[in-house]
Amino acid sequence: MTMADILITNARILTMDAARPRAEALAIAGNRIIRVGSKDEVAGLRTAHTRVIDAGLKTVMPGIIEGHVHLFGGSVELDTLMLNGVSGFDNIANAVRAYRKTRPDEAVLLATGIAHEAFGEPMTRHILDQIVSDIPFLAFCFDHHTMWANTKALEAAGIMKGRALPVGNEIVLDHNGVATGELREPAAYMLAQALTPTGGREWLGMTTGENPNPPATQAQRELDMKYFKQGIAHAASLGITSMHNMDGNWYQLELLQELLDRGELNARVEIPYHHKNTFENARVEEAAEMRAKYGRRRPQGDMLHCDRVKIFIDGVLETYTALMLEGYPDQPENMGAPLFTAEDFNEIITRADRHGLQVTTHAIGDGGVRRTLDGYEAAMNANGRRDSRHRIEHIEMIDPADVPRLKELGVIASLQPIAGVGVPGNPPEPILSRVGQKKLPFAYAWQTLRDTGAVIAFSSDWPVAPLSPFLGMQAAMTAVPMCENCPPQAQSLMDTLHGFTAAGAYMEFMEHAKGTLKEGYLADVVVLDADMEQTEKTEIVNVRPQVTICNGRVTFET
Ligand SMILES: [Zn+2]
Repeated sequence: MTMADILITNARILTMDAARPRAEALAIAGNRIIRVGSKDEVAGLRTAHTRVIDAGLKTVMPGIIEGHVHLFGGSVELDTLMLNGVSGFDNIANAVRAYRKTRPDEAVLLATGIAHEAFGEPMTRHILDQIVSDIPFLAFCFDHHTMWANTKALEAAGIMKGRALPVGNEIVLDHNGVATGELREPAAYMLAQALTPTGGREWLGMTTGENPNPPATQAQRELDMKYFKQGIAHAASLGITSMHNMDGNWYQLELLQELLDRGELNARVEIPYHHKNTFENARVEEAAEMRAKYGRRRPQGDMLHCDRVKIFIDGVLETYTALMLEGYPDQPENMGAPLFTAEDFNEIITRADRHGLQVTTHAIGDGGVRRTLDGYEAAMNANGRRDSRHRIEHIEMIDPADVPRLKELGVIASLQPIAGVGVPGNPPEPILSRVGQKKLPFAYAWQTLRDTGAVIAFSSDWPVAPLSPFLGMQAAMTAVPMCENCPPQAQSLMDTLHGFTAAGAYMEFMEHAKGTLKEGYLADVVVLDADMEQTEKTEIVNVRPQVTICNGRVTFET
């Protein structure tokens, strides 16, 4: 009989397995769960060498599967001055001063997570110069669409007088033709980000889909792997054992594979091929090459794999770039900015689908969601119905006519509860104005979608939002209706946990191996410091893991 390497006992286990939803103990041997049951059933698997974890009657659940992150960018940002939630000149200046004391040798200062209105007035290089003038100082907006740079940074990047950039990207100039410091969208801000120690390599998979050019040196690769390890350690400290990355290139796959080969990859990671609208449609076939080398079905494919295409159909509500079916209520002439025509989008999706690849589309406006569903339907009509599990990311708005189509087409809703407009603490504006009263009942319509039988998976969109799944869980469970005829969208505890575990496994075609605690499944487990069923909804943000186990290895413990 196989004996236990790790035995978790005295636990309130929520297995997410409908056949046996609760248990008291579980045993792990190697990288597998070998028994789930009562304390007595599992006790016999203990040997002198077994590590016994007494859960103290707290919740034990499957390792969290984070369905939408930007791991490389988020990992690098952990090593920057994070100004999330900090506002006012004095507060920001003090934070910068304190940070520089700890890092006197830093040649470029990168602050992240800052909000547009953090200074209470439009941000300019002059304001930043008052805080840091001797070295380049970059302030990256939490939304990752805008960066602000001080004068030193603009000079060092050679963009004081602007530069011609692709449509939609802009180095904002004043009436004298001199840069104000505001850099809009990747082609603009990557010029400044090139000054940072990573040269902006962490965002290439997002902004261009290309690899570092010239290729990264060994020293640069080591630096980037160090960041990945830090980011994954942060994830493990939050109970996360799997992450679906939303940007990708060969470079990220190579670095993560190297960590895996070294035995230093402490979470399962899935990386997509990212198809940009600057590419020829046919280039999407490259995704099949990535899968050939890094697919799920290879040995170790459960630790690192690439079987998916990521694509954006639209932008975001804040900047009126989300694609709408009608004009924005507060800008009736403006229907947003689709990144692909319907013809091109359908062709790309159909090509990817023909290869049996899964497609993930960022779609925020109701027009973007419809165009995405139309594309998935076109692929199904062209290639035949299969178990495709195409995904839509965000779905912040949806037309009522499209609600049943997710279930009908087998499309997964990949949602970020923390972004919900009805989440206590989230500012209602500018979202309320962009959505408008008429469409509010079908905005952030998590439960409405769930009620159709569609699969709902949850995630954070880190580093756009903090990575903590406990923030997302609380947001999912506490969102309140924002209008009189808005149906309640708050999620039950079990649906919420399912969205962060089993649904993520299904979304990854891995429901036979993870996402539930079941004999024979991969040993991805988190022991929490609270009994989730006894925790007030408004206290969930304070729950923390005591122990995180990924692939049978302890990746975090307090
Ligand atoms: Zn994202």
